[in-house]
Amino acid sequence: MTSATATSLLKSLEKGETTSEEIVKGLLDRVDRLRRLNVFVHLDPDRTLASAREADRRRKQGEPLGTLAGVPVAIKDVLCVDGEPTTCGSRMLKDFRPPYDATVITRLKGAGAILFGKTNMDEFAMGSSTENSAYGPTLNPWDEARIPGGSSGGSAAAVAADLAPLSLGSDTGGSIRQPAAVCGIVGLKPTYGRVSRYGLIAFASSLDQIGPFAHDLADTALVLKVLAGRDPRDSTSVDTPVPDYTATLDTPPESLRIGVAREFFGEGLDPEVEAAVREAIRVYEEAGASIKEVSLPTSKVGVAAYYIVAPAECSSNLARYDGTIYGHRAEDFSPKYPGEEEIAPLVRMMMVSRAEGFGAEVKRRIMLGTFALSAGYADQFYNQALKVRRLIRNDFDRAFKDVDVILGPTSPTAAFRLGERTDDPLAMYLSDIYTITANLAGIPGVSIPCGLTKSGLPIGLQLLAPAFAEEMLLRTARVFERATDWHLKRPGLV
Ligand code: GLN
Repeated sequence: MTSATATSLLKSLEKGETTSEEIVKGLLDRVDRLRRLNVFVHLDPDRTLASAREADRRRKQGEPLGTLAGVPVAIKDVLCVDGEPTTCGSRMLKDFRPPYDATVITRLKGAGAILFGKTNMDEFAMGSSTENSAYGPTLNPWDEARIPGGSSGGSAAAVAADLAPLSLGSDTGGSIRQPAAVCGIVGLKPTYGRVSRYGLIAFASSLDQIGPFAHDLADTALVLKVLAGRDPRDSTSVDTPVPDYTATLDTPPESLRIGVAREFFGEGLDPEVEAAVREAIRVYEEAGASIKEVSLPTSKVGVAAYYIVAPAECSSNLARYDGTIYGHRAEDFSPKYPGEEEIAPLVRMMMVSRAEGFGAEVKRRIMLGTFALSAGYADQFYNQALKVRRLIRNDFDRAFKDVDVILGPTSPTAAFRLGERTDDPLAMYLSDIYTITANLAGIPGVSIPCGLTKSGLPIGLQLLAPAFAEEMLLRTARVFERATDWHLKRPGLV
């Protein structure tokens, strides 16, 4: 039962073959057995069981049921849940309990879903391995010596390890797609504006987007339908119709024009990953797709532009954590070094609170961003990066005149070893070389399982589409899923 997809759980619930309580009990047992993976930072079994029983009661009494009635969904700890700890992987928010729900949480609750724990993540969503969490790293369910990807590593591992059939993540530069790839599951980053970000703890507001993790595309479509749509509380959410992604999923798109971007097959791409992606291209050809090489010339400076824009926005967003209103407040901020007594106590309190509350990577980003925005440098760095961002979007617009989707690897390598890149920020940043451009351009992208390395590690295939073309994107991805069985593979966990 724990390895079932949400779609099949819903069928079993409907037929009365199981109850939500039974499903939740099964998962709680499994979470207990697999504690070593460090997937959850918070999970309240009593509360979770109570909402499962409530879902069962509603079903039994014939009350109206939502799309996800009785189905557990794990939540990345970057999303505010009313009254529940929401740490964002940081010491800074160790004791923070938001007084409200994020809009996606309201929508999940409205659809009858059971909130199943808060998952581990890189601090403030900065990272590609979940090693930047203040609560220790999450382990990859396929190989416990390896990273689950990041920053939504806990949410990806939760689904991959069958600790929850569904989960939510956030993606600023790849944080849904890259962990989905290295954990062998599906991860979707919707178009910027497709899903409300109200209640998502901000990292880089012009890039952040919330999306689902699932075992397959049917489940992904189901969740997207629940999450998508305009929200008056997020002015960047767009009021365009939300299609019934589930209804059309199994109808292949009339035109299947697939672009292969030359730039996604360059230096640093692992040969086994490349081979799996080339094989995926062959599968599409066999399914009748026309394949065309396209070029995204500006993508080679995508990572560079991202590491100006994202830190710039984060340095501003994270200014709010200063110990005054909420978050960690230093107890001892008495002067320790010569000259410190000159600094006002309030300012010292803020300085020490931030020094104690933030981890190394967050501090690095705040410093990078503050520098890139500072007088005299803003033109050279921040404004320049914005121009590059425009060119990246132009590249995609040009390419999408000739093709419907662009295909390539999600991540240049399979899961790397824990500790392998922690001392080399640049190597870590390069994990997102293929995912970052979609965030800069605001377009949707999905990662689906497309193979295993010789040593049994999952490989992800990334498909990108024009803004708000999620329906076509999912249908195109589904063509591959139908033709292969990579989405059915599970890690041999005991
Ligand atoms: N790995 C990238 C970063 O550290 C992307 C993170 C994300 O998408 N949240 O910024």
